[in-house]
Formats: sequence, structure tokens, C-alpha cells
Amino acid sequence: MDPYRVKAEIDLDALQHNLRVIRQRAGPGGRVMLVVKADAYGHGARAIANHALRCGIESLGVGTSAEALELRHDGVRAPILVLGTIIDDEARDCLRHRVQIALHSSDRRAQIQELARTLGVRAQVHLNVDTGMGRLGVLPGRALDLLREIRGSSHLELCGLMTHVSAAEGALADSTREQARSFEGVLSAARSEHLLRGSIHMANSAALFTGLRPLYDTVRPGISAYGILNPDLPGSGDLKPVLSLRTQIVFLKDVPAGTPIGYSSTWRAERATRIATLPVGYHDGVPWRLSNCGEVIVRGRRAPIVGRVTMDYITVDVGHIPGAAVGDTATLIGTDRNETITVAEVAEKAGTIAYEITCSVGRRVQRLYTGGENLELAAQRAPDPRNTPSAYGWTASTPPSAQPPARPAAPRESGREVRGS
Ligand SMILES: *Cc1c(COP(=O)(O)O)cnc(C)c1O
Repeated sequence: MDPYRVKAEIDLDALQHNLRVIRQRAGPGGRVMLVVKADAYGHGARAIANHALRCGIESLGVGTSAEALELRHDGVRAPILVLGTIIDDEARDCLRHRVQIALHSSDRRAQIQELARTLGVRAQVHLNVDTGMGRLGVLPGRALDLLREIRGSSHLELCGLMTHVSAAEGALADSTREQARSFEGVLSAARSEHLLRGSIHMANSAALFTGLRPLYDTVRPGISAYGILNPDLPGSGDLKPVLSLRTQIVFLKDVPAGTPIGYSSTWRAERATRIATLPVGYHDGVPWRLSNCGEVIVRGRRAPIVGRVTMDYITVDVGHIPGAAVGDTATLIGTDRNETITVAEVAEKAGTIAYEITCSVGRRVQRLYTGGENLELAAQRAPDPRNTPSAYGWTASTPPSAQPPARPAAPRESGREVRGS
């Protein structure tokens, strides 16, 4: 019997495939900053970042400095940008560990400059321009002043200029064209004053897959690398889902008609049936909203979630599935035989977005990494004349400079299993 109550299978080959698709969309010379915030959208930042770097991505984007430091602690040497903002207390550790910071105000610039001077380091910063997100970032009218201030700061190194797209439809939205125009205005003014340094980046997944132009030299995909994209967007079918979420039947009970199931008895058996209890709940990533409307796959067939989703358990009606037994695998997200439940389907039923579904796969869910061997073996074997260059333009004998393969792969360290952080 499977030793896991709940497991998230993470397919590193699917990740690699998606990165190849992203790389193609980014165009020749286009660099990829993979967004691994929120524990890589629930997939496990450590393993995802390490594998993606071996696949040749150039840098990482995170949500908080703690996420960046965790990766540094794990030996990641590639550039890491805290995409949003740090809070004051985080600045020191960021500078000490060469974590890049997005700047959006004069005050923050002054603070970082002063701190970097004290520590005797050069702080690496990106200027975030708010062209329509309305959240973080300096307004376009103030961007030039801030760039001049940065240039005049002895201990600041400008590593890039960024803006963030607000529309879920990416380049298909008028607002994105407006944002691009506004960003372009800042860039051309900065260019004429020779204030531009480092990379320029704007495109998230939606913008990348809807053909934002220009794409500049770096793209910042997150969700698409995990194989998820709004199915209405072009190219979403090229991606492969990375995560499957599975549990097992721990108890079966034949109940007579009229039996109430779960908290508040929100479901009653219309006829005699068989109820399976699964040891997975909303703490593990099954939204409470799936109460009486979600489904799981058992023996290749869909079984409805009946009664309320609870913290640790759900109940499903398997009366129509002959032979269903304790120990059977139940798939919450993923494929079993001819049936598939996608993250998009779960999100739709739960009335939320796909991002929230994968991000809420809880920490007690065992992450199990599969695949990824091909690349690892290729990087470790002696050069083989039959080797063809990989899609990333480097061969077995020339591993990517971004991440020398000195350190063993995260999934390898514990026998291809990494505990969720
Ligand atoms: C999260 C995030 C991204 C990635 O967005 P996806 O929609 O997941 O591709 C890119 N840039 C910034 C600033 C972000 O916060």
C-alpha cells in the first residue's frame, strides 16, 4: 500500500518541457527569470529552482526575502530578485546574500544605499515602474528622477527595469497596450540620458503567451512553467501539468438511504451506497468550496465529493465503482487511466483561480519528485560525441554557467524525495 496519506507528485520532465516552450516564446537570446514565489506555487521552491537552473534558466523571482535566503542557504548562486518589495528589516540580509531588490521610492533607495555603504557591498536593484498595476512601483512620471538618484548612488548597481502587467488576458487587453506604451516612454527617456543598465522585463505568463511585443531581454513566467494557463490563451495546450495530487481510500462504509454525511449534514444518501473516506482536507489543498461539488478519480472513474470538505478528511460516494477498496489511490488533481482533473477545473468549481489551488497544497503533503534524470545524467557523464545540444544551447560537456553542477540536485539528496518546506 502507498505509504503516503497525501502526495503531490511533481513531474520535473514536465517542468523542463514547459521551460523549453517558454524559452521558444521568449525568442533568441531571451532570458528567463523563473518565478518561484510561494514555494514555487506550492510545487516546492527548492527542487523547482534547482532543476530549472540545471535546465538553463538565468535567474529566479521570489515573493519575500525569506524565500530568497532559503534558496541561498540551499546553495543557489544564480541571481534572485524579490519581485514585490522588502520591508525595512529585510534589507540587511538581502544585501549580505546578494539578493536583488526591487526599488520603488527615494526613501528606499536612500536606505539601501546607506546600508550597502555600511556593509561595504554594492546592492543590486531593479527599478519597478508602475504602469497600471497600481500596487508597487514608482509612477512613470517619477521614474527618471529615481533612475538619476540610483546612478548617483555609489553603492547601488542597477540590474534592471521592470513593470508588471495587470490584465489576465495579457497582450490581448487594451490596458496592456497602454502599460507597454507607458513603459516604453520611460525606457526611451532613460535611454536618451544613458540611465539604462541591466535587463528589462515586463512579461508574466499571460503576456508571454499572448505575444506581448516587445518582450525585452527577460521574461518572468510563473504559472506557465507549472503547466497551467488560462485555456483561452493561445499556446496553453503546449504546456504539461507538473503537479498531481493524490491520496488513498482509508475507510469504506456501506450506508443505507437517508444517511447524513459530514458537518451540518449537508448531504444525505438518496439510496443505499458506499462512502469512501479520504485523509485529505482543506489544509492539504482541497478547497472547502468543493463541498458537495468536487470530484476525485478512483479506478479511472469520477466519484463525487459528498458532504463538507473538512480540515483533514473528505468523503466521496463510490457506490458506482465496483471493487473500490481501502488503499485505492484517489486522484484530486491529475490523470488516472482515461480521466483527468485539471487545476483549472478545480479552480472553476471552487470559484477561484488556478494559482490559489496549487499554492494551498499544504505543508504536510509529501512532495515526490519524478523525472529530471536525463538532464542530470547528461550533466554528469563524460562527453559523448553523439550528444546533441539541448534546447538551451548547451551540451553535456558544457553545463550552464548559471549553476555549475558541483552541488547534487535537491531531489537526489534524499533519494528523490523532498519534504515540503
Ligand atoms: C507572480 C509574478 C509574476 C509571474 O506571474 P505568472 O502569472 O505566474 O506568470 C511575474 N512578475 C511579478 C512581478 C509577479 O509578482
